[in-house]
Amino acid sequence: MGEDPLGRPMTVPVLVKKGEQPGPVLGVVAAIHGNELNGIAVLHRLFQELDTTALQGTLVGVPGLNPPGLLLHQRAFFDGQDLNRLFPGRPDGNEGQQWAHAIAERLLPHFDLLIDLHTASFGRENTFYVRADMQDSLLAVLAAAFQPDLILHSEGAPSAGGTGRTLRAQATENGIPTLTLELGNPQIFQPEMVRRGLEGLRRVLIHLDMLSGENPAETASIPVCRRSFWLYTDRGGWLEVLPELGERVRAGAPIAHLRNAFGDVIQTYTAPEAGIVIGRSSNPAAAAGARILHLGVF
Ligand SMILES: [Zn+2]
Repeated sequence: MGEDPLGRPMTVPVLVKKGEQPGPVLGVVAAIHGNELNGIAVLHRLFQELDTTALQGTLVGVPGLNPPGLLLHQRAFFDGQDLNRLFPGRPDGNEGQQWAHAIAERLLPHFDLLIDLHTASFGRENTFYVRADMQDSLLAVLAAAFQPDLILHSEGAPSAGGTGRTLRAQATENGIPTLTLELGNPQIFQPEMVRRGLEGLRRVLIHLDMLSGENPAETASIPVCRRSFWLYTDRGGWLEVLPELGERVRAGAPIAHLRNAFGDVIQTYTAPEAGIVIGRSSNPAAAAGARILHLGVF
């Protein structure tokens, strides 16, 4: 993928399970953000448990797309750039641009479908949810197969900031149906999130006829958000976010208190419209402009 200052190759780990029967190639990649780890544990478990005699097609896993970020316990690449805002990258660009270009040129062409595993960023926590273009009938079915807390319809533009494409947007541009699965919180292996991710991927493989088996009928309808946005503080202080993950809030409901250095409540924030809490801040230290919560709207 690149070379370090000592001329040593910089690599990513790749797991391949080639089924005995022909079929599609499903790529599942994790940790393009180097502090988003639950997907790595999902891939380890999936590849240990999967029987190639039962598999039709090929499963390719990349449990760690951003090794420098993994070492640094950080979202960004070692040059400080967010790789998931740099696609398609540049072969003659800077460090992150060349890495993104290598992902686009050396990994993506192998895949017929792609699932990109993420978590919340530092200082935040997420529900178990899928981002996908729900106008795509295949992706709509696969998104539901994860039985997520909610589905966020989006066509793949970055959720906040950045001018380049996400990996999902790039893969989609290349004609590869792609969805993003968000599993919980950063810099931790969460057993429940890993279990849900693993079971969801098994159901996806069954839906794609890559594994035989029966998909259970949907037990509950899954909320689908047509759009979402983050709410931010306008002052600094100590932040207390009130609703839980996945909680539905009505328009005008209080969602957070902000206290000053002496403990007095200086601001109470309310929901500008009704929605569902997709993610929320877990970091009480808030400067003006700190994220409060990620609200999904139906
Ligand atoms: Zn991420």
